[in-house]
Order: sequence, then C-alpha cells, then structure tokens
Amino acid sequence: MSMPWKETTTCPKCGKENEFTLWQSLNADLSPEAKQELLDGTLFQVTCKHCGYVSNVNYNILYHDMTHQVMMHCVRECDVEETKQMIKQAEEDGMKMPGYRKRIVTDQNSLREKAMIFDQGLDDRVIEIAKLYYLAFAKEKCPDVNTTEIYFLAENGKYRFVFLGDTPLHAEFPMSMYEKIKNQYASRLLAAGEEETEIGIEWALRVFKG
Ligand SMILES: [Zn+2]
Repeated sequence: MSMPWKETTTCPKCGKENEFTLWQSLNADLSPEAKQELLDGTLFQVTCKHCGYVSNVNYNILYHDMTHQVMMHCVRECDVEETKQMIKQAEEDGMKMPGYRKRIVTDQNSLREKAMIFDQGLDDRVIEIAKLYYLAFAKEKCPDVNTTEIYFLAENGKYRFVFLGDTPLHAEFPMSMYEKIKNQYASRLLAAGEEETEIGIEWALRVFKG
C-alpha cells in the first residue's frame, strides 16, 4: 500500500514553514503520479510558497513496484543493517515473496535510477556491470575528467549514462549493448543469484572479477 502523510519543513532560505507529502511507503502501481515524480526527480523537492526556493527533503522510504516485482528500501547509511535484518525477519515470518527483487539504497539518486531501471523492465545488475565498461571508456576518452558518480537514465525511449564530476559527460547506452553484457555475464549473474540487496559498483566489481 501507499502511505503518504503531510509534514512540514522549514525553508532553508526564508525560514518559513511549508507543507509537503512524506511517503513512508510508495506503491508505484497504486500511486502512479508519485512514481512519475520519483522518476522525474521531483518527489523529494519542496518549493517554498513564500519565496519560491526549491529545497530537498530526505527520509527513509519503501518503494514497491508490483508490476516488476521489486521492493526497494531507500534508507540512511546507518539504517542499512537494521533494514537487512528486517527483510530477513520478514522472510523467516513467511513473507518470502518469491520472484521479488529486494534492494537497499542509501541515496535518492540511486532510488530514482533503480526505479527507472525496473520501470523499463531491465536488470539493475546488468546496468551496474555496464557502468564498469562505460567508466573505463570515459577514462580512456577523457583522461582529465574526474568522474565521481555515474547514473543510468531513460529518456524518450533512449538509454544513457550520465557521468557526474568536475565535467559532466554522458554516453548513449544502446539496448544492443545491454543485451550483449547480459548474455556475456549470463552464467555469472545466475551464480550470483538474486539474494543480495546492495547492487552497486562494488557488487559489479566482485562479479566482474569472478
Ligand atoms: Zn522560503
């Protein structure tokens, strides 16, 4: 289910209070408008009604995509272990949810990115492995650019990787490349299984090294 409620936050610019909708739990299928806001990157934005300043609110949220069978927790770094325990406990209590992918992320960009990946019917594990190749490619093409983060983006039916850092870069990520990596890593992906909840660059490096 979806659990939105009203909260207030203080505008960091003018100091006045604004109301915003806090989603403890967001069901993508039951709340498609909120899901779209997440994909657009506006879900956590609060526009001050007094001065127009746009700020960001941060809180733990559970994202549930029933269509693509995903449960994703976006939590503070310090809450990761507790969240893992909670997932484990739920499984022990009989809520196994077979076929479901469970993920834990610790920042809103990753939540948005993964929601987008799953919404496109893609496998985030393949995307994380693809990032390794694109990062190496960017390093070779633009050795002076310092990239700190890389994100998948689906826009107008096309896929891209966006590199964040001192000079923003982006590269097209054709579906053919996705399929190629997916096939190339099929046996390793099978061996890695679906149990891990933290799927990022570090996970990809482990699989890459075999
Ligand atoms: Zn304000």
